[in-house]
Amino acid sequence: MLYLDNAATTKVDEKVVDEMIKYFSKNYGNSNSKFYSLANESKNAIRLSKSRISSFLNCSTDDIYFNSGATEGNNTILKCVAMMLQTKGKHIISTEIEHSSILGSLKFLENMGYEVTYLKVDQTGSISLDEFKKSIRADTIIVSVMYVNNEIGTILPIENIGLICNDNNIFFHTDATQAVGKIPISFNSIKGLNALTFSGHKIYGPKGIGAILMKNSNSPFYQNYQPLVHGGEEKFSAGTPNIPGIVGIGKACEILDASIDENIKKISKLDEHLIQLLDKNYGDSIIFNNDFNCRIKGIINVRFRGINNEILLKNISSSVAASSGSACSNLKASHVLLAIGLTEKEARESIRFSLTHNLKKSDLEIFNEL
Ligand code: PMP
Repeated sequence: MLYLDNAATTKVDEKVVDEMIKYFSKNYGNSNSKFYSLANESKNAIRLSKSRISSFLNCSTDDIYFNSGATEGNNTILKCVAMMLQTKGKHIISTEIEHSSILGSLKFLENMGYEVTYLKVDQTGSISLDEFKKSIRADTIIVSVMYVNNEIGTILPIENIGLICNDNNIFFHTDATQAVGKIPISFNSIKGLNALTFSGHKIYGPKGIGAILMKNSNSPFYQNYQPLVHGGEEKFSAGTPNIPGIVGIGKACEILDASIDENIKKISKLDEHLIQLLDKNYGDSIIFNNDFNCRIKGIINVRFRGINNEILLKNISSSVAASSGSACSNLKASHVLLAIGLTEKEARESIRFSLTHNLKKSDLEIFNEL
């Protein structure tokens, strides 16, 4: 069976597993304990993981906070920063194609009296910077825009949005869950960007671990910040640190740091090959939903005219594992595809194939046999 659902989750790299193993039953100390060596080993493991992440994503080690994944990270940033800044205003700007962890948090905030502007996207899945500028108000406190869309792979103009937020003194967060490891990211170099969230299991690391990068997290700006979950040593995460997970996400970042350029090249070739195979075998029966100009390679969203995606996915499931979009909202027609202009029926005919650099070109030949 060919696994082409790497945007949903990835296989953990063997080298990541190897490094994590000893933190389950050998170095099992609580990093919040003091004096004895088991605790110190866990503290050192956190330090090493942070230093690997900071080299990979160019952020300060003091600005990395571990959590259970991007869903928690997104909830934390939106809810807690909204509360922290509520005396300044209650208006938030985001887009209509965000992940459900952002949209759900925003809905919650709307019920709490905040107002949200959801920027529309064009057929490529991108926003208009002019529309964005027009939507800014005196009471706008947060802008949250994803770096890369998880269903169609569109890269959003994060640097330009950062500049605009910087000029207007607005807190800017990006959900970079689908961008980390797929495009080079330099957190500290993106002017105006305050916070970034991502997850271990999308980057060949384990599930249940993620991180928030929070620029100048120890500055007085955060003095009134209240955490989402209380009980812990750190401001933006709580509870006993998940040391095996922290080791895993750090190792995954170290591996990607050394291989990202090569991985991008491999994925680009695989992406091109898959498009050719789909074209060759299905020709007029398919339409690609991606924008081919500004997207990451490796996420191909394709509509099979007249065929329901659930039926198709089920029929091919013994040969190819793919999905109809986000694994987190499979029951509804994709809000992303509706946002780029597809009808409900067309959205329900669409499938996402997501690749990994670990595939061989020959693996894809299965599309000649389906
Ligand atoms: N944001 C995006 C863009 C995602 O693709 C996902 C995972 N589907 C998440 C957030 C949630 O990540 P996690 O599974 O780590 O909670």
